[in-house]
Amino acid sequence: MSSLRNPRKEIESLIGAGDLEGLLRKAGELHGHFCPYVALGVRAGYMALKALGIERTTGMEEVVAIVETNNCFSDGVQIVTGCTFGNNALIYRDLGKTAVMLAKRDGTAIRIALKAEWEDSFDSRYPEAHALFERIVINREVATQAEHEKLMQLWAESSFEQLELPEEEVFNVKPRKIKVPSYAPIFASVRCSVCGENVMETRARIKDGKPICIACASAEHYLLDGAGISIGKGESS
Ligand SMILES: [Zn+2]
Ligand SMILES: [Zn+2]
Repeated sequence: MSSLRNPRKEIESLIGAGDLEGLLRKAGELHGHFCPYVALGVRAGYMALKALGIERTTGMEEVVAIVETNNCFSDGVQIVTGCTFGNNALIYRDLGKTAVMLAKRDGTAIRIALKAEWEDSFDSRYPEAHALFERIVINREVATQAEHEKLMQLWAESSFEQLELPEEEVFNVKPRKIKVPSYAPIFASVRCSVCGENVMETRARIKDGKPICIACASAEHYLLDGAGISIGKGESS
């Protein structure tokens, strides 16, 4: 069964055919809605694959995507490049920029970043969507069901329009040569002496001579959320 050999066959066919609309529909399955930034992530991922001549996207770290934001853009990048949080081919730099660098193992890379001018012109190009977005999403004002639906519809329409804009209006593109991080190491697990769950040994602490997980130790750890990476503490699991 070819789908067992290559679960991304359908997506790779869309990439091969240059079907950005089809890829954006796939991105919607992961992302949950259509919005301009997820569309831009799809485009950037597609452009990067083409520029580097990559056809197979098996998620085995032969290609890595280094994203500089955890906004909607990164979901577009993940679906198209096949580099994901879970397969370790996605690297997150907490820089707060809508940008991605795609790199091959030999260090050949390309960085694609959203032009500031695109962002500056978006609100005036989509005034109705902008006004609704500001009220409903930014200011968290109470909105009617119809207003919510209107925003989602305007957003969805604008997302597909982002696929049509000339590349040079949207992105800065620069070839790079980088040192690609080593393949993700595989660590052994140890058992937490308090909760009994297994924990990656590099994340375990020792208490009274026995391994204990970070959660049970209420120890500090890194936390990635919508605000970026910060130090978290406590919250036993
Ligand atoms: Zn989104
Ligand atoms: Zn524990």
